[in-house]
Amino acid sequence: MFSRLYLHIPWCLSKCGYCAFHSRPVAGHDLHQTCLLLIREMELAAAAFPGNQPLSSIYLGGGTPSLLTPQQVHTLLQASQRCFGHAASPEITLEANPGTVTRSSLHGYYQAGVTRLSLGVQSFDNRILQLLGRVHTAEECCNAVIWARQVGFSTVGLDLICGLPGQTEEAWHTALKRACTLKPDHLSIYGLTVEEETPFAINYPGGAGLPDDDQTAAMLELADTELTLHGYEHYEIANFARPGCRSQHNCGYWQRDGYLGIGPGAHSFLQQEWGTRWGNQSDYDTWAVAIHNNRLAETQHQQLTRDDAVSETIFLGLRMADGISLDRFAEEFDERLEHRFSEEINQLQQLGLLVCSPDRLSLTKRGMLLSNQVFVRFL
Ligand code: SF4
Repeated sequence: MFSRLYLHIPWCLSKCGYCAFHSRPVAGHDLHQTCLLLIREMELAAAAFPGNQPLSSIYLGGGTPSLLTPQQVHTLLQASQRCFGHAASPEITLEANPGTVTRSSLHGYYQAGVTRLSLGVQSFDNRILQLLGRVHTAEECCNAVIWARQVGFSTVGLDLICGLPGQTEEAWHTALKRACTLKPDHLSIYGLTVEEETPFAINYPGGAGLPDDDQTAAMLELADTELTLHGYEHYEIANFARPGCRSQHNCGYWQRDGYLGIGPGAHSFLQQEWGTRWGNQSDYDTWAVAIHNNRLAETQHQQLTRDDAVSETIFLGLRMADGISLDRFAEEFDERLEHRFSEEINQLQQLGLLVCSPDRLSLTKRGMLLSNQVFVRFL
């Protein structure tokens, strides 16, 4: 039913100007209380959804999970073990903001069982970091990577954003090269999107004053070229990894593995029939009251139909460079994908966006850049 767990830590030191994630400034909030609620939610979920497989991956995301102490992380992981069981050597990822870690805290996370550190670097330009509202400098990002290696992390990932205010292609190229000198095992590369109801939507209305779509697309292309040159595989639209260092947890999302989301705003997917999806209440207080009263804070339940499952399998599977196994699709849906969508596939192949081999359907490099144009054809 599920073998993956996501734990959402909804607090940050302060809110970044571009951020639309479920997170709030931590000032005045008791993280210990949040941890107790997360543990209680795990206990309630274990009773409500028995029969999961031992967890093969756990992802502490947010928000800023590195606001937790190593002891708090340890306690959460003990609770997940008690409630759901862990597989042998699970992948355990912690998202960390470089401005909130020390060598000692990283050592503590490693000792607590975290196997993979994902650092939200975003930029190596201190002027841009300040504009974004990040609480760290480029130097702190570099220190965090060095400390992570020193304390034993064998898998370290960096997140970078392109299409930032005033960013030129040349500056982006420099940022990519600087990232490569740190030798991360994994890189997530995002184009900046201006989300409604964020300070950025006011400061850059409709994206005015930011690199345009073509410039951002050129930066994403440059990332593909530069990182491929440095030995990274571009294994998913926004993700690059050294061989053997893909994020197993995120691969699970794209392969439609079942996962349970714990915490305010966290999403879950269970493989029942064609699949069930839901999200938790995103408002912290509403979520906290429900858990405090021994109720799961589920909302937005969606029981998927067969057609929903077909669409999801295609647009999630195509996100990965490996694409979709045509035989596996036929086994699951008792229908050949290449027959049902023959017209769409032909047209997209002619546009150079898709490639269909005898056993797989996948995006081309150009298709990865224009993926939304591909996905709508399968809805
Ligand atoms: S640290 Fe991440 S989650 Fe927190 S406000 Fe900034 S972008 Fe959002």
